[in-house]
Amino acid sequence: MTIFSKILKGEIPSVPVYEDDLVYAFDDISPVAPVHVLVIPRQEDVPNLNVVDVSHEAMLGRLLVAARKVAEKKGIAESGYRCVINTNEDGGQSVYHLHLHVIGGRALGWPPG
Ligand code: 5GP
Repeated sequence: MTIFSKILKGEIPSVPVYEDDLVYAFDDISPVAPVHVLVIPRQEDVPNLNVVDVSHEAMLGRLLVAARKVAEKKGIAESGYRCVINTNEDGGQSVYHLHLHVIGGRALGWPPG
């Protein structure tokens, strides 16, 4: 079980941004930009993209639909934003429950560090 399972259960508090039957979105506790929201599946047995297959398509699609709703809700859809999924060590992953970062509210550099 990861810290995100505890957030899903409400055992650790979080600031909700969006939720539906498949995903939950909440503010990142350590934001790297004025807007930094994490979108996570309610499904708890998907540590990262390395395990996904066609059985996960609906959930994966919903993560992106939720990202769009988060961007609109946070007022960054027009100015722009970035969606990131970190995977394993070189990708900078620290929590092994699949999650999509929605980052914006300022101009973001490219390439990432
Ligand atoms: P990763 O590094 O795995 O791609 O992203 C994990 C993210 O989870 C980090 O941006 C980190 O700040 C965030 N995070 C870790 N613990 C908590 C927590 O307890 N609450 C919230 N809201 N975010 C967390």
